[in-house]
Amino acid sequence: MKKFIIAANWKMNKNVAESLLFIKNLDTKIRNRSDNSKIDKIEILIFPPFTALHPIKGKSFFISTGSQNIFFEKNGAYTGEISPEMVKEIAEYTLIGHSERREIFGETDEEINKKIKIALSNGLKPLLCIGESLEERESGKTFKKIEEQLEKNLSGLTPEEIEEIIFAYEPIWAIGTGKTATPGQAQEVHAYIAKLINSKCSVEKKRMILYGGSVKPENSRELLSQNDISGALIGGASLNVDSFFDIIENSLELV
Ligand code: PEP
Repeated sequence: MKKFIIAANWKMNKNVAESLLFIKNLDTKIRNRSDNSKIDKIEILIFPPFTALHPIKGKSFFISTGSQNIFFEKNGAYTGEISPEMVKEIAEYTLIGHSERREIFGETDEEINKKIKIALSNGLKPLLCIGESLEERESGKTFKKIEEQLEKNLSGLTPEEIEEIIFAYEPIWAIGTGKTATPGQAQEVHAYIAKLINSKCSVEKKRMILYGGSVKPENSRELLSQNDISGALIGGASLNVDSFFDIIENSLELV
């Protein structure tokens, strides 16, 4: 198993040329490292816009890719949507339930549940995002919200299916705001998520749970040092190849 997943969510940023240039530069930076003996302990994962997924496929040995979204049907009259079968041709992963999809596009927990099921049945690895709002945190409802989201989003899944999912804890108040959860705050929720997931699976083990919310080179080392944090999902700081690479470097120091 990989020790860390360092994932970039580019959201609605970067055209094809910009995406290709980023991948080329990142690949060069990794190749130029003096010691890459531990590079296989880190999965570097890019979620570009749909339009760049195919062009960047296979462009770097070090990089895996995923879509930022999928639809929950196989195919048919769903103008503007992309099915997991289509994504599967060109990528391995898909983000599901990012808070921007939940909040801006009104995605419900039930739809997210359907998306996880169809992703898994098509062999796409889901990265499920969960997290509380500022109001929920301030009124002491963080754990309740996490539990509710997991219950609804994982409803009807077998333990074997849940094993396949990667999780991201993304407190909504920390996304794109510059406010990061302290390593202690993040660890507390990650440990709780790990406990809930383990209770739904047949074996108790370390779970892949990424932290997301204003991760930058300056705070990544401390966050990634926490026991139950097994990677980062990075928005803003992933758009710049230098800062994304610095986060990768920090993670490599910890493997
Ligand atoms: C995200 O969108 O998943 C995210 C964590 O964004 P940022 O790093 O910009 O807070």
